[in-house]
Amino acid sequence: MTSTTLFYIIIAIIIINFIVDKILDALNAKHYNDKLPEELQDVYDETEYKKSQNYKATNYRFGILTSSFSVILTLGFLFFDGFEFVDNIARSYSENPIVIALIFFGIIMIGSDILTTPFSYYSTFVIEEKFGFNKTTKKTFVLDKIKGWLMMAIVGGGILSVIIWFYQSTGIYFWLYAWGLVAVFVVFMNMFYSKLIVPLFNKQTPLEAGSLRDKIAAYAETVGFKLDKIFVIDGSKRSTKANAYFSGFGSEKRVTLYDTLINDLEEDEIVAVLAHEVGHYKKKHIIFNLFSSILLTGFLLYILSLFISNPILSNALGVDIPSFHIGLIAFGMLYSPISEITGLIMNLFSRKFEYQADDYAKNTFKAEPLITSLKKLSKNSLSNLTPHPAYVFMHYSHPTLLERIRNLRKQ
Ligand SMILES: [Zn+2]
Repeated sequence: MTSTTLFYIIIAIIIINFIVDKILDALNAKHYNDKLPEELQDVYDETEYKKSQNYKATNYRFGILTSSFSVILTLGFLFFDGFEFVDNIARSYSENPIVIALIFFGIIMIGSDILTTPFSYYSTFVIEEKFGFNKTTKKTFVLDKIKGWLMMAIVGGGILSVIIWFYQSTGIYFWLYAWGLVAVFVVFMNMFYSKLIVPLFNKQTPLEAGSLRDKIAAYAETVGFKLDKIFVIDGSKRSTKANAYFSGFGSEKRVTLYDTLINDLEEDEIVAVLAHEVGHYKKKHIIFNLFSSILLTGFLLYILSLFISNPILSNALGVDIPSFHIGLIAFGMLYSPISEITGLIMNLFSRKFEYQADDYAKNTFKAEPLITSLKKLSKNSLSNLTPHPAYVFMHYSHPTLLERIRNLRKQ
């Protein structure tokens, strides 16, 4: 195969991926105005339903704009040898492959971030603002960007440097060492994410004593679950949308509730949401997800090791001097159809797990408060109640609200 053929394969992958995505979006958008099924009639009142229709349509149009922009940008970069241009800049500063790679990715990341910032600014301060979701101040927006960049530079830059160093010292066996490093990192992050990363962006306080805490403790007791780390996070600092999640395992396991969730839901509903989260833990979904992401990473790194030494990868992107970092970019683009497929499989599992966690909440607590909480959460985020099945199949990590209600009401 020549590098020109490979170049056109990459272009084809980008274009096909874009078209498939747009077709799915359009299919989904055609069903925004479908008649609501019986079970969902009481989610919205008339005004709110109109508002949710409007919100979906606005986001749909905005999504076409942003994705078209990014696809045109990527194609332009490929056709006008943008990677070669940035690679030459990086090479003018150093001869060390690690330093070159860091400068190269630094320019690409910051460049693309600057180009896409107007879109995220518009999304936050115009769209989300208009529909009453936005609580982010301009200061928080800017600080989030800076913190995100610093974290990317330290964590991303650190891991990249070590992986290139493995490649230089062990050749194609680098993938085994890189896999070990990533596995340790993933497990570490899973355990300490809430302790180390979340505080950079949010305030977390232990849930204060009172009837909610007592109810949660009473529930945890009935299922023999040690749940002493319950934190409330100031999600309201950025958005009115609510959430709850479980993180860590062993002695580090904890539940995080958004302050917005506590405001929106009744105590029984919060316990039901927690029971669902406990279900994920008890049914070993958290460990399953952790192991599968580590296995998938190993698979990816192994495939990468088969191709990375081939100069055709770099040449396909119009870069004459082959290198690990250019090969990595070309590989990433070629691998994207495979990651679409693995993502799809992970979504299949995830939707199955959601039913299991719902069943767990129903069997160990009650179904009704979970149903009403799900309805409230859908209403408060103006979510789409009639998504197209093909769109659900490809993109949804959770079953639809209707499917979950039907499952919870099933005898
Ligand atoms: Zn869940």
